[in-house]
Amino acid sequence: MHKPGFEREERIQFEGDNYAFDTLAVRAGQRRTGEGEHSDPIYLTSSYVFSSAREAAARFGGEEEGNIYSRFTNPTVQAFERRIAALEGAERAVATSSGMAAIMAVGIALMQQGDHVVCSRSVFGSTVSLFNKYLTRAGIETTFVDPTDLDAWRAAIRPNTRLFFMETPSNPLAELTDIEAVSKIAHEQGALLAVDNCFCTPALQQPLKQGADIVIHSATKYLDGQGRCVGGVVLGSDKLMEEIFGYVRTCGACLSPFNAWNFMTGLETLSLRMKAHSDAAMALALWLEQQDGIDKVYYSGLKSHPQHDLAVEQQSAFGGVLSFEVRGGKEAAFNFIDATEMFSITGNLGDVKTTITHPGTTTHGRMSVEERAEAGIKDNLIRVSVGLEDLEDIKADMLRGLAAI
Ligand SMILES: *Cc1c(COP(=O)(O)O)cnc(C)c1O
Repeated sequence: MHKPGFEREERIQFEGDNYAFDTLAVRAGQRRTGEGEHSDPIYLTSSYVFSSAREAAARFGGEEEGNIYSRFTNPTVQAFERRIAALEGAERAVATSSGMAAIMAVGIALMQQGDHVVCSRSVFGSTVSLFNKYLTRAGIETTFVDPTDLDAWRAAIRPNTRLFFMETPSNPLAELTDIEAVSKIAHEQGALLAVDNCFCTPALQQPLKQGADIVIHSATKYLDGQGRCVGGVVLGSDKLMEEIFGYVRTCGACLSPFNAWNFMTGLETLSLRMKAHSDAAMALALWLEQQDGIDKVYYSGLKSHPQHDLAVEQQSAFGGVLSFEVRGGKEAAFNFIDATEMFSITGNLGDVKTTITHPGTTTHGRMSVEERAEAGIKDNLIRVSVGLEDLEDIKADMLRGLAAI
């Protein structure tokens, strides 16, 4: 039977080095079914049928490749995995039910009791709890370090250090870590480096090419881009991902095919969105620096940012998230947020809609006062994830906020 569009697709696999990023973002990973569909189908099925008992036995026994159950493999999830792997330059990707599930998979599947982690202290709040509370119960200890201080990374090493973990740029203060330099420190110790690439996405930064062994994403943010689905992904070598896959398959942190489909289509516009988010955030950061009532702006695209040179070297643009301190304290920050009209007051980021957050009482509210002080998160700090609305409307909302402090 002639299968329209199928033979061509079999011949041309958009997965290698032959195609550029923007082509891979649109094309990589798709495998047509033979129905001639142009867009990707969603395989909403929990299990798969076999043509015989013998075939079922061979699949379960691992003698024959193929789908068994969607906790193990699902064609839509695999299509998303192939596409994001092509974009990060990874041998393989394993999708997970959330960004936290991706980090948990790295923590549990690649380590064991008695291992030690060196982690940036400027990581996502739940990441701190994951390492500090849950992995501690599994006998895995973590030392948190200043992410900008290479000597601190080196000094934290113990004989049993197995993993280095960082997020660059960090949330909400846009602190950067030199990926290549820390990868060398990790590798000298025989440890792995994992980078949470949520804020830049592969459109702006590809950590595996800079020496990292593992990349993780909260796909919930920019990969989706429109605030619809929760999901995550882990990327790296075939060897490491086989361990991650085994964990996800057994322990159940698998991604829903519906969410995978949304992420897959999200990737098609990733590069355009990241460019637009970055341009808008840059313009807004420069403008905010000039406004009366703003004490300080944190954005790695600004010349005033202490690691601006590293940002230029390591990233192709500066991303869509910035934060700033308003004149005054918590009251002033709350007044600012409440006086805005268009911005969404939400903890989420990486959306086409501009979002505004008070980190000290939301995303970072579970930290102690001392921990927040140590991390530099002040009461007058506001984080904005700059969306794709008209820049003049975004500025107008900022002015409403400023008028209310
Ligand atoms: C949101 C986020 C996570 C967690 O991802 P979920 O999809 O919410 O589980 C991890 N790291 C960073 C940097 C994030 O912003």
